[in-house]
Amino acid sequence: ERRVVTGVQPTGALHVGNYFGAVRRCVRLQDEGEDLTVFIADLHSLTTKQDPQLLQENILDLTAYLLASGLDPDRSILFAQSAVPRHAELCWLLACLATHARLAHLPQYKEKSAETKEVPLGLLLYPVLQAADVLVYQGTHVPVGRDQLQHLQVAAQLVKTFHHRYGRMFPTPQPLLPDDGSDRILSLRDPNKKMSKSDPDVKSRILLSDTDDVITKKIRKAVTDFTPQVTYEPTSRPGVSNLVALHCLAADKTPEEVVEEADGFTTAQYKKEVSRALCETIAPIRSRALQYRARPALLRDVLRHGAARARKRADDVYERAAAAVGIAPPA
Ligand code: ATP
Ligand code: MG
Repeated sequence: ERRVVTGVQPTGALHVGNYFGAVRRCVRLQDEGEDLTVFIADLHSLTTKQDPQLLQENILDLTAYLLASGLDPDRSILFAQSAVPRHAELCWLLACLATHARLAHLPQYKEKSAETKEVPLGLLLYPVLQAADVLVYQGTHVPVGRDQLQHLQVAAQLVKTFHHRYGRMFPTPQPLLPDDGSDRILSLRDPNKKMSKSDPDVKSRILLSDTDDVITKKIRKAVTDFTPQVTYEPTSRPGVSNLVALHCLAADKTPEEVVEEADGFTTAQYKKEVSRALCETIAPIRSRALQYRARPALLRDVLRHGAARARKRADDVYERAAAAVGIAPPA
């Protein structure tokens, strides 16, 4: 039996990397009839400084964009992570099995902790909470971007350690990586980095909330290189290839098709094609999201309904894990 589980942080508007790399893939899995759980990772977002009021807004925004992207709260389970305390409770059990050395060596921790002097402990625990997020539903598959692969290895290690100490309990979650290049969309300003919500340069990413005008401007300013032809060579020409990849994802084409159509175009001319394809994908999502966002009571209801369903599943798994560990049984 497959159970697909994934989360998105409410750290600001979704970018096309999040959309193609995570959200759209989830929606497709849902539409294929998979058992899908998607949570808004508000606990994770606290690992970086958040303004409380803005965070609340961001949670509703993200809910609106997930619904607008096709997530169906009746077929899939959609809720805010903090509304299901079992995530944090299982995190504690797993944290007692994780080692500081292993967590401190993870690249994402190193990158993010290098940016601040006072490193919050939550940042170190981030992958452990992620493991709990999946294991608390006995998740089997996790559709993520390539940036999360190492964290899934941590989850696999924790499952092994748990089983060794307490007996079998969890399936080992497997990554679901796409074969369409959507697992790592790059920054438009620095094609050596992935596109990120937290990148201080807003021109580095295309948001689902961007208007056609803004999309066109950002693509026009995207960093390429000094070769005018359009080719798809991700290693030697990451900038142009990233545009080709985005074009393919938006227009549902292969790199070969796109490159052939762009024959004779300079990269500057080609950028107009990319913008057009992206606008066509994004505009309908943006307008649906605005409609949802105008109905906050409906959004809150959706999250409440999802949380109730999630809680039922999580209680069951957590109670068995707690009993295996030998801590107080539920009253
Ligand atoms: P932050 O910079 O705040 O960590 P983020 O852009 O990495 O933001 P997350 O909320 O951490 O966004 O990730 C949500 C999902 O999107 C995850 O499954 C992640 O693997 C995926 N994802 C993030 N960035 C990219 C990207 N550039 N290309 C493809 N998938 C991505
Ligand atoms: Mg991230």
